[in-house]
Amino acid sequence: MAGLKILSVNAHPHDFTHMAGTLGIHVADGDTATVVSMTGGATTHNIALRDEMAKPVDKRDEKLIEKINREYADQKADEMRNACALFGITDVRILSYKDKLFTIEENPEAVDELRDIILEIRPHIMITQSPYLTGPRGHRLGARDDHSETGFASIEARTLAAIPRYEDTRPTHKIPATFFPGVYFEKDEWDFVVDVSDYYEKRVQAEETYLSQGSTPEWSRKRIGVTLGSAAWGSGAEYAEGFVQEKPFLLPKITLPESLLEQANESEADRMKRVSGS
Ligand SMILES: [Zn+2]
Repeated sequence: MAGLKILSVNAHPHDFTHMAGTLGIHVADGDTATVVSMTGGATTHNIALRDEMAKPVDKRDEKLIEKINREYADQKADEMRNACALFGITDVRILSYKDKLFTIEENPEAVDELRDIILEIRPHIMITQSPYLTGPRGHRLGARDDHSETGFASIEARTLAAIPRYEDTRPTHKIPATFFPGVYFEKDEWDFVVDVSDYYEKRVQAEETYLSQGSTPEWSRKRIGVTLGSAAWGSGAEYAEGFVQEKPFLLPKITLPESLLEQANESEADRMKRVSGS
């Protein structure tokens, strides 16, 4: 199906990169992607802030803290927009909630803001964080944090977008499918991986974009090579991104992707060549 609308909801400006190759494939195919970050990530990896906050309260320069946070948030926003652009994504929305800790209790309006975005975009697919802390779809981090709270907010917003609200003139919207990025799960919990071998260099570039997180070219290549290579291992692809389905799909029958059938008829030598990118 062409013309799919994908909504990616993330806690921090860097989080979308974990699915960026997949989004890039869709955008190049004519689908659309909207990427949301709930927070500006102002305190994540913020070294200058850490130094100032390490001082006793009366020694801290409040004006400097404000300036550090503002400049850091601006830098992160630029980095996120630049990273998105690498994958053809232009609809980037950075919401203004505070990170560490973003909670629904303190920010109940976040649910309505996401509901508004859902009713505007009317996505077919939502890729968001898992709100679950335990069980088969449970987040590997195992404790409430910005990621799981983002999951709660987006799942709640999804539910509310499908329910009529009397004063709302917009039609309700039901999102057909929800996925969680595989990086927050153990690999044996993944439901599928997407072959992003063609987007490997872009994933490395995207990682390098986040200078605010101390990314260097060497470190970016290492990180992406190891994580995407390990995600692909055993699948027959060189590099991949993993996903967890929120729940099983209803299918008309068992369907197999073309690539799986082709792989079955491939020689072992060809397979090893492909997986090693040679
Ligand atoms: Zn994050």
